[in-house]
Amino acid sequence: MGKMRLSSSENRVLFTGTQVAYYFLCKRKLWLFSKGLGMEKNSELVNLGKVIDEFAFEREKKREGYSDEPVRVDFLRVRDGIVVHEVKKSSSMEEVHEWQVKYYIWYLRRKGISVRGGVIHYPRSFRTREVSFSPEDARLIEEALGGIREVLSRPQPPPPRRTKICRKCAYFEFCFVK
Ligand code: SF4
Repeated sequence: MGKMRLSSSENRVLFTGTQVAYYFLCKRKLWLFSKGLGMEKNSELVNLGKVIDEFAFEREKKREGYSDEPVRVDFLRVRDGIVVHEVKKSSSMEEVHEWQVKYYIWYLRRKGISVRGGVIHYPRSFRTREVSFSPEDARLIEEALGGIREVLSRPQPPPPRRTKICRKCAYFEFCFVK
């Protein structure tokens, strides 16, 4: 189930990186996942991705991962400042991955950790993607957190909207097979 918590200092609900990614990807998926309809864990595609991720960066994650619920960063590196690193199996949703990393940067900065930026690793394609962070990004992240709260306050999930990602989504049958 997606995790949320109330920050006593600012009285704001914070979310996991997965929830932020799903907000940008599909609001129905965000709702289903957050309400505990955890079909993601049964998805072979998701499991395959996790296995690849674990083998690709197992050592780094064990040594240098950062976990402060609800945020779990794959690993941090210090090179001209602190940099967030995230490992992804597929580069087909790079924009969504970028928002997830921007959320981690926003979260860590808010805790007083001076994060310079982020890097997303795509071990399957031997590529990396640099992630920067601007004041406008901070504003958009805060807007997204408000959007997540609004989606999760609904008694019903948003209706399904068929897009090119649906075929690979663990909720496909739930959304489209009658
Ligand atoms: S199948 Fe499509 S509409 Fe349904 S949750 Fe997944 S991405 Fe969203």
